[in-house]
Amino acid sequence: MSRSVAIVGGGLAGLSAAVALAERGFAVTVIESRPRLGGRASSFSDPSTGQLIDACQHVSMGCCTNLMHFCKTVGVDRFLKDQPRLWFMTPDGRISVFKADPWPAPFHLGRALASAHYLTAMDKLRIGYGFCRLLCESPDADPPLLPWLQRHHQNARCIDRFWGVILTSALNETVDRIGMKYARKVFRDGFTRHRDGFTVQVPSVPLARLYGDELRAYLSARGVTILENTGVKAIDPASLPIAITFRDGRTLTADDVILAVPFDRVRDLLPPALADQPPFANIAKLQPSPITSVHLWFDRPLLDRPHIVLVDCLGQWIFNRGEMNPGEHYVQVVVSAARPLRGQGRDEIQRLIVQELQRLFPGPAKLLRAKVVTEQTATFSAVPGIDAFRPEQATPVANLYLAGDWTQTGWPATMEGAVISGYRAAEAVLRQHGFAEDLVQSALS
Ligand SMILES: Cc1cc2nc3c(=O)[nH]c(=O)nc-3n(C[C@H](O)[C@H](O)[C@H](O)COP(=O)(O)OP(=O)(O)OC[C@H]3O[C@@H](n4cnc5c(N)ncnc54)[C@H](O)[C@@H]3O)c2cc1C
Repeated sequence: MSRSVAIVGGGLAGLSAAVALAERGFAVTVIESRPRLGGRASSFSDPSTGQLIDACQHVSMGCCTNLMHFCKTVGVDRFLKDQPRLWFMTPDGRISVFKADPWPAPFHLGRALASAHYLTAMDKLRIGYGFCRLLCESPDADPPLLPWLQRHHQNARCIDRFWGVILTSALNETVDRIGMKYARKVFRDGFTRHRDGFTVQVPSVPLARLYGDELRAYLSARGVTILENTGVKAIDPASLPIAITFRDGRTLTADDVILAVPFDRVRDLLPPALADQPPFANIAKLQPSPITSVHLWFDRPLLDRPHIVLVDCLGQWIFNRGEMNPGEHYVQVVVSAARPLRGQGRDEIQRLIVQELQRLFPGPAKLLRAKVVTEQTATFSAVPGIDAFRPEQATPVANLYLAGDWTQTGWPATMEGAVISGYRAAEAVLRQHGFAEDLVQSALS
């Protein structure tokens, strides 16, 4: 009889572990408290139209090789569309195009940086110097980034308009709070390792569709049981097989259990004495960082590009999703590291964003309706030394594993990190049963 694996959490971490283990003959059950899969990378149904709207626009990048592998495996990679150019706009409405030249990395983006209208020639030299120095740092060094940037001749404009613009979106944290390790990784993997690393990929369908029909068909063809609307209350790893108690009182046992829930939920599911021991106790030290997305429907097109990166603005990215319903043009504005918005009501956030858009895109477009969504625990905050608190996927407890973007992945909190964690958890399960297999994909090089 095949061994049973219960995966608690149907986000990308749990789903990628499920795909990997089901392919290798394990009897997998995915247990998800919500009525849908995808976790944070998912959509809600717009009450006005019934259409699927992403809680927040998600993008990937060319350097995200594990997410791409997962999407190819389940047959949804065609929904990730490359954006070969990015547009950067300043409050005065001026725009610079950022696109690669046909030269090998890292030279492919040199001209794009050199043409940025919002940096002076001297700023660009400073940035080039800081960039080279950053790449020379040890990959594991993780001191606070801001003092390091200042020591390396980065002035306020370089920090706000270059380092801040890229890192706040990539790491969901502000430059004054992040460590060097993941900042370096963003620039190393995204800009220098491979020409395609920086290419932004935007799903052409809502996230619930991206991680929807094909994924379910793939899992069901391999015998995976999916229990939605099924919250787990507790697991007891003291006995084997491991006992899992659902919130409604039902129980299940499994030979192996992968806990793939968000970091702020893990310890509550464990017996208290275990939750207070390492490595589980450290999870309590991870801090959340919020993201706000403002969904706006206008009576006519507001902008004529698929997206715009905003420099020196409250909003950071604008995504233009086009005319989703006749007469309704849908735009989403994302504010990462949205801590400064805390305490401001939804109406005020909407007012500030709409005011900003009206300044940037003056014209006749009228707002029809809006929705502001803030995810308070969107990701963990990539503060200096954060990896000391992120546990490995294999735990000291036999047959109990962890997965999630917050575990040790070598990545910040991203879909890529979530998939790596799922693959690593699956590798650990395989190891436990005497099979050594590398599931994690290599980086672009
Ligand atoms: C607003 C926002 C914007 C983002 N933008 C991007 C982006 O552009 N690009 C990018 O790469 N990443 C982005 N991310 C990060 C990305 O969404 C996450 O890194 C990734 O989806 C995490 O997957 P996960 O499986 O680790 O966790 P989750 O997706 O959180 O999955 C955990 C699952 O566990 C379930 N669960 C919790 N408790 C229980 C329980 N007791 N019983 C059963 N199930 C339970 C939850 O319902 C959830 O489905 C964004 C995140 C947010 C919130």
